Amino acid sequence: MSIIFLNGAFLAAEEARISPFDRGFTFGEGVYEVCIVVKGKLIDAPAHLARLERSLKACDMAPPPEMANLPTLMAELLQKNAIHNGSVYVQVTPGVTPRNFTAQPQGRSTLMMVANTGHFETSPAFTAGVHVQLQPDIRWLHRDIKTTMLMPQVMAKRNALANGLADTLFYDADGLTEGASSNVFMVDTQGSLITRPLSNLLLAGCTRERVLTLAQNAGLTLQERPIRPEELPQAAELFVTSATYLIAPVLSVDGIKINNAVIGPKTRQLQKLYLNYIAA
Ligand code: PMP
Repeated sequence: MSIIFLNGAFLAAEEARISPFDRGFTFGEGVYEVCIVVKGKLIDAPAHLARLERSLKACDMAPPPEMANLPTLMAELLQKNAIHNGSVYVQVTPGVTPRNFTAQPQGRSTLMMVANTGHFETSPAFTAGVHVQLQPDIRWLHRDIKTTMLMPQVMAKRNALANGLADTLFYDADGLTEGASSNVFMVDTQGSLITRPLSNLLLAGCTRERVLTLAQNAGLTLQERPIRPEELPQAAELFVTSATYLIAPVLSVDGIKINNAVIGPKTRQLQKLYLNYIAA
């Protein structure tokens, strides 16, 4: 039986109760983070928690009273579930109000944390790569906020699955924005590593940031600019990054093979550097 954390208490998931008037349910107001744990160690937890604070602030949402204590509580949750490899999901909503758009919560923000077992470095996406499709980015213009308002992503991933694919990459008028739950990197024929610059149009991925640092330290040439869909057939390599993908090679986009659907050398190099980083 899984133990979760809800509003100050550890309890069996089956016993957890959230009010039907929670604004996370009535108005879809909520922000979240997913942090992975490898051999008992949370990976990039400070970056995830800093982003959680930015998301809360951007949504004008009060932090939960446990905010300062989250790293300890996350570790305790993993321990209670005997999880050494997996993930912790942290979700915050403004809490309970009458069903009124502008009502101010009187009580506490809702905080829920769930832990799951997982081995991301041996996942098929990491080891063998993924085949993806492109779709127009139909989301709102605050994609820098990590909100639980995930309907477009759910639809895009379900559509990919229906097409026998692993995922969807979104694009706008300037080029690829990001994956449905990941950031996108391309290696061009000159060997430069290219990814879209941060803005309100994409999430500042913690893995994206880590990969950029690793690439820079390894002496790779970096370019932050949008990747145009027309460039993809000539791309030397393509990959997506996220806490749970780590670095997943992209083998084809809309049926167009990248590097003849073989994982490229720079992708492999960065995967290795990333595995060294999480093992250190
Ligand atoms: N973009 C979106 C839309 C995401 O949902 C995620 C996953 N949280 C990412 C990018 C990657 O972020 P991170 O590397 O922090 O997991």
